[in-house]
Amino acid sequence: MTGAELEDYLSRIRSFARERVTPAAAGWAQGRVVSMDMFRKASELGLTGLEVTVKLGGSGLGYAMKAKVCETLAAADFGFAMSLVNTHNVALKLSQCASDAVQKRYIPGLLNGELSGCTALTEHSSGSDFGAISMRAVRSEGGWTLNGEKIWITNARHASVAIVYAQCGDIGARDGIAAFVVDLNAEGSVRRSRDAGFSLTSAGIGDFSLSDVFVPDDHLLLAPGTAFKSILTEINGARTYVAAMCCGMLDAALDEASSYGQARRSFGKSLAEHQGWRFALAQAEVDLAASCALVTAAIAQIEGGSDAQLLSAQAKIHAVQTCQRHLATALHAMGAEGLRQEHCVTRHIGAAQIAALVDGTTEMLLERVAKLARPASQ
Ligand SMILES: Cc1cc2nc3c(=O)[nH]c(=O)nc-3n(C[C@H](O)[C@H](O)[C@H](O)COP(=O)(O)OP(=O)(O)OC[C@H]3O[C@@H](n4cnc5c(N)ncnc54)[C@H](O)[C@@H]3O)c2cc1C
Repeated sequence: MTGAELEDYLSRIRSFARERVTPAAAGWAQGRVVSMDMFRKASELGLTGLEVTVKLGGSGLGYAMKAKVCETLAAADFGFAMSLVNTHNVALKLSQCASDAVQKRYIPGLLNGELSGCTALTEHSSGSDFGAISMRAVRSEGGWTLNGEKIWITNARHASVAIVYAQCGDIGARDGIAAFVVDLNAEGSVRRSRDAGFSLTSAGIGDFSLSDVFVPDDHLLLAPGTAFKSILTEINGARTYVAAMCCGMLDAALDEASSYGQARRSFGKSLAEHQGWRFALAQAEVDLAASCALVTAAIAQIEGGSDAQLLSAQAKIHAVQTCQRHLATALHAMGAEGLRQEHCVTRHIGAAQIAALVDGTTEMLLERVAKLARPASQ
């Protein structure tokens, strides 16, 4: 696409976010289910196939567009953005590594909005410590048999297909971890919804257990010895788009707060005319600009093919913490009005806490920065 075509494409995505996602988001926060029509509309815009090659039915766009789409959708609803990007990531991974038969079975449905997908690492006994997973994969004739449970998985409520990470060797052996393509409607697969103190329906959060679920050999996506390394590389992209989502959420909240500050009057003038009121939002703008600059730098590294471990960690830490701090600023600046469901601020506050956990918690990322920023001399 030319620059003008890309801009036109982004403006259609912004319209979709504004006209379709934003009006539905308050209902999702109360537990209303996302309609299939919403996924279909998103797929008509190509949102589940952005990086998938044109040959396989995708749009063949770059990572920068994915990050921009994540930011735009998260400004309206973080959970819906998470849901779409997780389906997209499954389609992308299958397009890169799966057998022809597996690609034929799942990619068309993932791209046209009929199927959703999830990527499952987390378990009861292992979250940040991914190397300790205990989902077992045992060799059987013609394939593998999987047993175990995954929890807190985006899209697990409705996903047809999962990329499941499982241990083929001893627990704790990183080289024993492999990734499998699993049909979540297969016999032996049972799923459950999961909610927090607030609804997680738009992200489709759920758990699933696999009891003697057989997957044929061609459903082995990443062989033992390659899966752990593959996660470490891909996660830089995920960290950066989560950081972009945080920038989108805070930008939307500051938009609402500043409009409110123009209209609401106190002591004979608008809130925005009170210096004490506008300084808090100005500080938020400064910190948001710094987060966006880090995200832009991380995107450039990823697009350029260089190692983005450090910048993606820095971008996610900064954007998450800025969001955690200044969504509260925006809420406070709107007084009681900010609490109303029509506004995004309270939803985004919950989402920022989730952003601090997924794809590497803030503490895990600080460990990365501590190792990489000033490596110990040999
Ligand atoms: C809404 C949502 C969606 C999710 N989607 C997915 C998904 O699609 N797929 C998937 O596989 N997982 C998913 N997750 C799970 C997510 O990846 C985990 O929550 C995350 O890895 C952290 O694991 P944990 O929650 O078990 O926390 P823990 O690992 O138990 O950590 C608890 C706290 O201790 C801190 N901590 C842990 N170890 C250390 C240490 N060594 N030093 C200092 N502090 C430490 C952590 O930073 C955290 O603050 C999702 C979670 C949520 C909430």
